[in-house]
Amino acid sequence: MQDLKVLSPEEIKGLDEPRISPSQQQTDYSKKIYLESYGCQMNFADSEVVTSILMDQGYSTTSNIQEADTILLNTCAIRENAEQKIRHRLQSFKPLKAKNPHLTVGILGCMAERLKTKLLEEEKIVDLVAGPDAYRDLPRLLEEIEDGNKAVNVFLSREETYGNIEPVRLHTNGVTALVSIMRGCNNMCSFCVVPYTRGRERSRDLHSILKECSNLFDSGYREVTLLGQNVDSYHWQNPDTKETINFAQLLEKVAQLTPELRVRFSTSHPKDITDEVLHTMAAYDNICKNIHLPAQSGNNRILELMNRTYTREWYLERIKAIKRILGESCGISHDLIAGFCSETEEEHQDTLILLEEVKYDFGYMFSYSERPGTPAEKKLADDVPEEIKKRRLQEIIDLQRIHSAYRNQLMLGSIQRVLVEGDSKKSAAHHFGRTDNNKVVVFPKKEEMKGKFVDVKITHCTSGTLLGELIN
Ligand code: SF4
Repeated sequence: MQDLKVLSPEEIKGLDEPRISPSQQQTDYSKKIYLESYGCQMNFADSEVVTSILMDQGYSTTSNIQEADTILLNTCAIRENAEQKIRHRLQSFKPLKAKNPHLTVGILGCMAERLKTKLLEEEKIVDLVAGPDAYRDLPRLLEEIEDGNKAVNVFLSREETYGNIEPVRLHTNGVTALVSIMRGCNNMCSFCVVPYTRGRERSRDLHSILKECSNLFDSGYREVTLLGQNVDSYHWQNPDTKETINFAQLLEKVAQLTPELRVRFSTSHPKDITDEVLHTMAAYDNICKNIHLPAQSGNNRILELMNRTYTREWYLERIKAIKRILGESCGISHDLIAGFCSETEEEHQDTLILLEEVKYDFGYMFSYSERPGTPAEKKLADDVPEEIKKRRLQEIIDLQRIHSAYRNQLMLGSIQRVLVEGDSKKSAAHHFGRTDNNKVVVFPKKEEMKGKFVDVKITHCTSGTLLGELIN
């Protein structure tokens, strides 16, 4: 899941404001929860589950931290700076706690699971620590605190999928929504904390996924993103019929719900993505033609040290299969780590050559951040100097920017089907939406078209955005 989209501060702002009906805003004596989410899409989807569980128990939510009875931070532990950000945020709560001694501060998510009770020792302001599989227990934990205790639940489950919990949509424009299809990860990439913070893989019940997607469509959503650490290893067995469903079959069943619902998914794993998935994508217009396929490195010795379980050659064969079955216009994005343990200059060059061979549309690029408790931390020296890591990362980012611009230029003059998600951040006179291959398009507004599919002629582009004009 290290590969899932990490939302920028701009995207995060105002996202945690639940869609509360006016009737609920009448004089409300319930305990108020203020929730901030950090990290990947899975964490944001989890915050919607947390809100549902607590509202079910009579709590309400607020986006005004001053009126909160409980502050919850849903945290990320993927890199050191993600945790530092949380520690700084906790410091900023001290005046609030001084003003309201009954204020409860809770840490959820991967940092909670990684540090467990140590977090209570290190951060005295924290009252509650709950890992990603403990959210059903939150009401009991909050009661514990009311009794004057600290409360911790970091039990990792082999069954929990929160499948029967209807998420309260927080991070929404009312058009696109996240739907988690599985939890945990069985891959043991040597640099990654996710297997330790989110546990073993378990796939969610097919019917609860289909029901959630249908409900979303009925309430006006026109796009779902199916989420999993490694969606390709989705595997669910019907307890009655013993029929098993793999990811390609799940994808097909979601696409068959209605052709008016767009379907995206993230994240794929190079060793598991099958031609069956690619042919299923090709068979349905409403399955979007974009794939997030993390590479992490372009060199075989480094891929082995990372325990990625595929080679550069295998990875490139998958890329060829994607382009053969879904066409050159299929959007492909990646994840790359610069400066992994013992990476030589030549091996770094292999990563730049991989970028050159694939010419991705987009990528998430980071320098290696050693994580406590991972196999890499235990067995490998983090020996690439910071300034070399930085220089290599910048070379990767600069090359990716050239390729993103090149891929966008290929779309000039084309007509793209765009799902309108709202007003452009920069101008209320413009709408924005995304193409089938997951590119943001901005175009002048003729009328309010949020939630509608429109055809846009692409006239200009930058490396990050397409600009166009409505043609219908
Ligand atoms: S262990 Fe590997 S596949 Fe699993 S979440 Fe981490 S990086 Fe992704």
